[in-house]
Amino acid sequence: MLLEVQNLTKQYTEGVGISAVSFAVEASECLAIVGESGSGKSTLLQILAGFLQADEGLMRLAGKVLPLPATMLVRGYPDIQLVPQDFKLLPNHKVWDNISYPIRNYPKKELQNRLAYLAELLNIQDLLLRYPRELSGGQQQRVAIARAMSLEPDVLLLDEPFNQADTQTKHQLEKILASLTQETQTALILVTHEATEALSLANQMLVLRAGKVLQYAPPQKIYQTPRTAYVGKLMGHLNELDKKTCLRAEHCYFADAPTAFEAEIIHVFYEGYRYRYTLRTGAGKEWIVYDTKYFEKKHYYLAWQASNLLEFS
Ligand code: ADP
Ligand code: MG
Repeated sequence: MLLEVQNLTKQYTEGVGISAVSFAVEASECLAIVGESGSGKSTLLQILAGFLQADEGLMRLAGKVLPLPATMLVRGYPDIQLVPQDFKLLPNHKVWDNISYPIRNYPKKELQNRLAYLAELLNIQDLLLRYPRELSGGQQQRVAIARAMSLEPDVLLLDEPFNQADTQTKHQLEKILASLTQETQTALILVTHEATEALSLANQMLVLRAGKVLQYAPPQKIYQTPRTAYVGKLMGHLNELDKKTCLRAEHCYFADAPTAFEAEIIHVFYEGYRYRYTLRTGAGKEWIVYDTKYFEKKHYYLAWQASNLLEFS
């Protein structure tokens, strides 16, 4: 196992930061840490990077226990690099200097080779002579990732990497990160408040709420069998039959024949490859149903397969 984290706990004077967080990440894997604002994501990243000291718990990298930040001359683990949300690029230095700063003491030839390799990996070959202000947000992000990768870390930490990215930039970043983990065996740990954006890259997902782990499993498992309705709703809309029984919107359809479940169409949204219908059920709840066809009438019967119902205790 590359990185093992056991029972990390950090209490602030005003309250919980994180509480008994454990997980493990293999080389080339991607762990997504998901939680709403205040759930402890930044606290956890700061501890993982070696900037903040946990009150309790243990971290092992490649079998070796990592030192406590308080015992280190300079805080931060060289083999675990954080890409901050605001990138923290040096504004008065060109991209080239930004990336090579951490390896400025390398022999010249080695430094040049490393830089050329990183520029190709992050697809920023044409940007090396520009200043950060001359780059788009997505380009700045790739430069920040290149800088974090310069020391060949085992683990790369990304704070809200998809925040503010448009769909195209997001897809480009996904491809770059997927190639990067394959090529360099680096493990990725990313935090996000938007669970759906973590689905595509992550092999494992850890859902945090108020510092506690609600569920830790592969994204498919969390999507299909969320442990609680709260976790289920983070991953996409849940239609609610009652407090304990829910149904994913895509598992519900308009029935051809009358059923016991009637609903009224309130809005129709065209999404290109399908329509998204918002409905009001007999019980007054708002439901969502998708269909590729356009339905004109107002009242419909709904159906689903019983095996798709999600039951929460
Ligand atoms: P997130 O990044 O998920 O928004 P944080 O890790 O920033 O969550 O915060 C988790 C909890 O710890 C919140 O209740 C927050 O108010 C508290 N917290 C974070 N940093 C500090 C700090 N330096 N001092 C006191 N409380 C803090
Ligand atoms: Mg945060």
